[in-house]
Amino acid sequence: MVRGVIHIINPYDPGKFPEDISRRYGIPEAEIISLSSNENPFPPPDSVRKVYEQAYSKINLYPHPYYHDLKERISDYIGVDEELIAVGNGASELLKMICEVNLEAFDPVTIPIPGYTLYAVLAMLMDASIRFVEFPKYKIDGDEVVKNDGKLIFLCSPNNPTGNLVPEKEIRRILKETEGTVVVDEAYVEFSERSHLHLLKKYENLMLVRSFSKFFSLAGLRVGYAVGNSEIIEAIEKVRLPFNISYISAIVAKACLDSLDYFKSMRDKIIRERKRVERELSKFNDLEVYPSDSNFILVKINREENFETKFQESFERKGIILRNVTGLLGLEGIHFRITIGKEDQNNKLLEVMEELFN
Ligand code: PMP
Repeated sequence: MVRGVIHIINPYDPGKFPEDISRRYGIPEAEIISLSSNENPFPPPDSVRKVYEQAYSKINLYPHPYYHDLKERISDYIGVDEELIAVGNGASELLKMICEVNLEAFDPVTIPIPGYTLYAVLAMLMDASIRFVEFPKYKIDGDEVVKNDGKLIFLCSPNNPTGNLVPEKEIRRILKETEGTVVVDEAYVEFSERSHLHLLKKYENLMLVRSFSKFFSLAGLRVGYAVGNSEIIEAIEKVRLPFNISYISAIVAKACLDSLDYFKSMRDKIIRERKRVERELSKFNDLEVYPSDSNFILVKINREENFETKFQESFERKGIILRNVTGLLGLEGIHFRITIGKEDQNNKLLEVMEELFN
């Protein structure tokens, strides 16, 4: 009944959620610590809550169809013209629309691994031909990427799940030498402050995708944006569903942009904690810690295969959810991704690590 490709697509794995662990281990949901989805542990400030509550009185009405207000505020935030910005229901929707407007069946798509797994799902949906290129620890070699000759090339900086940045010189090399469109996913970029927005002035074949889910603490509201090539932005405007962002989401995202200082200070706290957790985790013998420029850390566990289940269950029994990324394309051995939480949550994580490794 459904299209052939649907049978071979592995659905995106969103990991486990507090509801699942609560049901399984009988732990009250409110006590569960989710370090699985790279969410921001700090909710937006009260000023944003007020805007959210006021918006309730308008939910019987459609939002403005072109989201000019939101785009204007994003434009101020990133210093790029409004005409070069498209907004969507999370960065995920922008990634999907970029595939929809660029890819014909069998077009080559280059996806470096280990990387974010959604790109392959979206490219497959378009019947594209995927070329995975493996870079251990996501150390991108621009020449290798160019050789693959993708019509679309997906890069992620900082990368999920490895946490590291793609060096600018590699991105420049790719942009310069390929005829394809280079999509740089910057969902986590505010944690590193190493954006590639400035390259838009020089390179026509660049698209950047960003999210309100991480730095701006709005994972539950679903807002993202794409910035770059004007032809692609116009095409996205043609294909996006009418009113693709809810009224509440659009107005709250705008309010978040008015509270930048708050989010920066939360970001600084998260980074301080990340450095502490990195340091503490590095003390355990069988744990290899990937250096991170983001709000999460990837660890490799150098133990026998069957330790994977024990490790995961030890955390879940204590109400802590981590993301098991063992078996992800491009990762060999047992790997878990750990989101940085609040200080007390990170302390609980470290306590369980201590029990397991000392
Ligand atoms: N890109 C990357 C690298 C991500 O990790 C995520 C979220 N896990 C997304 C995009 C999607 O973000 P959003 O919530 O804005 O759809």
